[in-house]
Amino acid sequence: MTANVNQGVDSIASLSREGYRDIALYAAPGGYVALDLSDNTNLWGAPPAALRVIAAATEKAVSRYPVAYEPALAAALADYVGVSSEMIACGCGSDDVLDSAIRAFAKAGEVLCLPDPSFSMIPVFARTNGLVPVAIPLTDSFAIDVDAMLATGARIIYLCTPNNPTGGALSRDTVEQIVERAPGLVIIDQAYVEFGGDNFIDLATSGRPVLVTRTMSKAFGLAGLRVGYGVGAPELIAEVLKARGPYKVSSLAERAGIATLKTDQAWVTQHIKDVVVNRARLRAELKMRGLSSFESAANFVLAPMSDCVAVAASLESVGVRVRALPQLSGIGDAVRIAVGPLEMMQRFLDAMEEVA
Ligand code: PMP
Repeated sequence: MTANVNQGVDSIASLSREGYRDIALYAAPGGYVALDLSDNTNLWGAPPAALRVIAAATEKAVSRYPVAYEPALAAALADYVGVSSEMIACGCGSDDVLDSAIRAFAKAGEVLCLPDPSFSMIPVFARTNGLVPVAIPLTDSFAIDVDAMLATGARIIYLCTPNNPTGGALSRDTVEQIVERAPGLVIIDQAYVEFGGDNFIDLATSGRPVLVTRTMSKAFGLAGLRVGYGVGAPELIAEVLKARGPYKVSSLAERAGIATLKTDQAWVTQHIKDVVVNRARLRAELKMRGLSSFESAANFVLAPMSDCVAVAASLESVGVRVRALPQLSGIGDAVRIAVGPLEMMQRFLDAMEEVA
């Protein structure tokens, strides 16, 4: 019996794909903490309409499969962004849409180019799909290096605006240059677009191969339900859905997403306004304490801070979690703080003083 178990373990190790074994599990923040400012979710909570849908769940919404490819959610999202529903691919978070698009539009061994620093999951999705991620450092002014990115000849170019983790938004001119000159797919990740920066949905209808990805995890307060989407030309969206497969959004997530879009836009808009005001307040408070931070068009603020890992650990010991980002390219150590209600921001500032 024991011999069989060991044999199984050995053969699993030998079965795993070359170059794949060294990809680590995503280090997700673990466990309960009194105040979690580490993941840029909606810190005011979830939209009431979504909670009502969950509370009133029917048995069939649990026991039966959803409708494949979520046409009703796609239609509601299409209304929200102002396109037709064949231009929408939903997913289990925008992570799923990004991963599927990468799989759909590049072969193993081809290059995916992204700015550095940017969204940390992109090199992981590239590698798990057999691609080679090439990260091009941001320029001294924290813009993207258009020529260097294009010079990689990448099959897929990934842009993120507003960018995680810097919070900076790309100019229209920069994004259009990439879209016009790129040899393959351009992904424009707009997970934080509700909080600032230019809206690039129009580029998804420009006739160029562009996929704009968005999410209901941030402004819409539905991170736990996992609802994301991509916007692109119908033939591009069909490829993303093929690579994605059916049934990726649960029935309850689909219904909660639709209810939020149809009846809770005011709730969402109010908290976007709150983020914009509190983001400026947080940056001003940091400045008064001698701490610099980057201008942000997102619902978080990046503050350069030496020994960020130790700072984050100290904050966690007093019940406040922020995201430590050691040795960011061109920036060095920094912490990323999600923007929420003022009492939360005050608790974070008090905790900084406690651990100083
Ligand atoms: N893109 C960016 C830039 C993000 O920061 C995140 C979440 N951290 C995502 C995509 C994925 O979000 P979700 O899967 O919840 O839609």
